[in-house]
Amino acid sequence: MTHKRKDLQTATGHRALDHKEPLIFELGTAETTGVDFSEPEPFEAELGGLERSEAMGLAGLSEPETVRHFTRLSRKNYAIDMGFFPLGSCTMKHNPRLNEKIARIAGLTDVHPLQPFSTIQGSLKVMAEVARWLGVLTGMPAIALSPKAGAHGELCGLMAIRAALEDAGDARTTVLVPESAHGTNPATAALCGYGVKTIPANDHGRVDVAALAEALKENIAALMLTNPNTCGLFENDILKIAEMVHDAGAYFYCDGANFNAIMGRVRPGDLGIDAMHLNLHKTFSTPHGGGGPGSGPVAFSKALMPFIPLPNVISINGRFALQELGVEGEQSIGRMAAFHGQMGMFLRALSYMMSHGADGLRQVSEDAVLSANYILESLKDVMTASYEGPCMHEALFDDRFMKDSGVTTLDLAKALIDEGFHPMTVYFPLVVHGAMLIEPTETESKASLDVFIGSMRSLAESIASGDVERFTSSPHLAPVGRLDETTAARNPILRWRAREQG
Ligand SMILES: *Cc1c(COP(=O)(O)O)cnc(C)c1O
Repeated sequence: MTHKRKDLQTATGHRALDHKEPLIFELGTAETTGVDFSEPEPFEAELGGLERSEAMGLAGLSEPETVRHFTRLSRKNYAIDMGFFPLGSCTMKHNPRLNEKIARIAGLTDVHPLQPFSTIQGSLKVMAEVARWLGVLTGMPAIALSPKAGAHGELCGLMAIRAALEDAGDARTTVLVPESAHGTNPATAALCGYGVKTIPANDHGRVDVAALAEALKENIAALMLTNPNTCGLFENDILKIAEMVHDAGAYFYCDGANFNAIMGRVRPGDLGIDAMHLNLHKTFSTPHGGGGPGSGPVAFSKALMPFIPLPNVISINGRFALQELGVEGEQSIGRMAAFHGQMGMFLRALSYMMSHGADGLRQVSEDAVLSANYILESLKDVMTASYEGPCMHEALFDDRFMKDSGVTTLDLAKALIDEGFHPMTVYFPLVVHGAMLIEPTETESKASLDVFIGSMRSLAESIASGDVERFTSSPHLAPVGRLDETTAARNPILRWRAREQG
């Protein structure tokens, strides 16, 4: 084995192309500046005591120094364009460059939401087309485009459900959420003023139907179910579940963030779903992560149509407009946001859908499921798969194979960074112990999946052979080593303050 001089000291402190990067405030000082201003004229006006009394302490750097600082920082980041990003529940797929080209068409980027409709017919047509495609894919009659993200879509869906129940004089108090649900589901229900009751999972990772039947009382407003669920499994009893929910006078909300697994194969409308958000930034591409951008359109059943948010794109004699009033009176929940948002994401999603076509979109979901099952089958002899049988778009493992080894799920995720990967999602879903959720998506080649599988097998073998050291102090090769996550969460220092630096 060749010996790597990991500890080699260089005169600069850099490691070849990996430069040490201080904060910009440490790089430059307030005494220098990258711009030459002429001396200001004496300033006479009275600012009412609002004048700055001391220097702001901004770092002065030249333009090339500034550009290099941010470029070097960007090189420390891991990105979907650098390598495999198996983060479960996030659908981190390659974003076709065609979509970026389309999203940058000047006539579509340089518009303002208050322009007269006659001047933005193209933009409105794009929105109408996105809604039409999503309507076909979901098999549901109404699409609301304005929600800004998945969680905002959930809020929109539950607000419509609440409006429908109140309209029927049947305001209810509680929303049912399965144990495996994404945290946004109970948070949305609580924000809408509902109590949350948890439904346990059965031994097969699906909703416990008997427990659901027990919980479906007359105070239940809705069930929020994710399908495929966050264990990466299809809810086999979904038709029965829909019937049970409706028989109890409740509505069926589906979290559609995992639509990538069923797109073109199953229409949610045929499953009895009343409202479901789609994450355009997952299933339909758009670079996401780190907080944005997002877009979470919601598909609605006929029963909820009178309550959907406004305004809606409509077309009269081939002319497009935004309709401000509900068709059936004033029952709409109103605006979800000041303006329809995320035009760039509508464009990327439409470009994605049109370039794939209906058959291509079906192949997307088939390939995503195939990739996940390839990973599941290739690793389940050295790791512990949480549930029997094939998975949908993500493979779920737990930490039973590491029991008593001294290595935890977190350690394994950190060691994966040294292997050059972004770690998979860890400790979610909460229903299995030490969860590792791996979502490869359809855009990874077999070759890249094989490299990942090889790394995971090597890590699993190290655990089996007792090489705990490989894990507990990792990552060794990342820009920063193991961070103190507890202090980071309890005592976050999120901004630099000039004065505290002394
Ligand atoms: C991503 C995700 C959400 C939330 O979507 P955001 O766009 O991040 O608000 C909700 N549910 C599931 C299952 C998800 O994966």
